[in-house]
Amino acid sequence: MLISLSNINFSYSHKDEEFSLADVNLEIEKGDFVTILGPNGSGKSTLLKLILGLVNPASGSVNIDNVGLKGYTRTELAKKIAFVPQDNYSVYPFSVFEIVMMGRFPYLNFLGAEKKKDIDKVKSALSLLGISHIQNKGINEISGGEAQRAFIARALVQEPEIMLLDEPNAHLDFEHQLSIFETLQELNRNKNITIIVVSHDLNLAGCYGTRCIFMKEGRIFSDDNKFNLITEENILKVFNVHSKVIADSKNNIINVALIPNKLN
Ligand code: ADP
Ligand code: MG
Repeated sequence: MLISLSNINFSYSHKDEEFSLADVNLEIEKGDFVTILGPNGSGKSTLLKLILGLVNPASGSVNIDNVGLKGYTRTELAKKIAFVPQDNYSVYPFSVFEIVMMGRFPYLNFLGAEKKKDIDKVKSALSLLGISHIQNKGINEISGGEAQRAFIARALVQEPEIMLLDEPNAHLDFEHQLSIFETLQELNRNKNITIIVVSHDLNLAGCYGTRCIFMKEGRIFSDDNKFNLITEENILKVFNVHSKVIADSKNNIINVALIPNKLN
């Protein structure tokens, strides 16, 4: 199993009233494309942090390729898992090229010297994400969608087996939301990169990937094929909103329309 979480319990403090993540069991196979959805504060980002070893569970274990996280150095782990965090911003005006080159850090020697190979990989990631033309611009001088693509390119040059992305479509217009998920789908299909993406968008989860996880109050509410999971009943239970779900299994897409309370 590529990723396996067993009997995870975690809390940010020992006080009872604090948020805790409870009884999380999760297995993700190589090549999976999983979308994690759930209300604010349900523990989606915390779950990603546990997989990355950025926080440690109070009990239970996280294994990557059947080895516990502690069995990896940071560098070894960075070659396996790349993370695109939710709030990507840079106080220092690095260029797009420099931001993407940072993804090569697990491969650079102790002097941090870039070789032609590293430069070539950065260039091809910039081209794949369609941002070659802005590579010399400052990361703070481009649009949110372009910056988001730069951070995905940075993750890509890590040459990871797994990409974790925390709400990569937040703040993007419709075209760029689709284009980010389109890119993830291509990476999944063509490079067999395992994708775990947190999103608030039921429609994107319905259009891309196969498997969804709904989180609620620090627990996995359900983990299933998207057609079983994205239903009007589950959306009401997890998100507390009424909806109309149109499942189109022929085209492998699900569309969700939210229904205002006044119509219920
Ligand atoms: P989500 O990503 O689903 O919105 P998070 O995993 O970020 O939720 O957070 C779950 C809960 O944990 C929230 O109530 C949040 O306030 C709390 N939390 C998140 N990070 C910390 C932290 N570093 N210290 C204490 N509480 C935190
Ligand atoms: Mg979050």
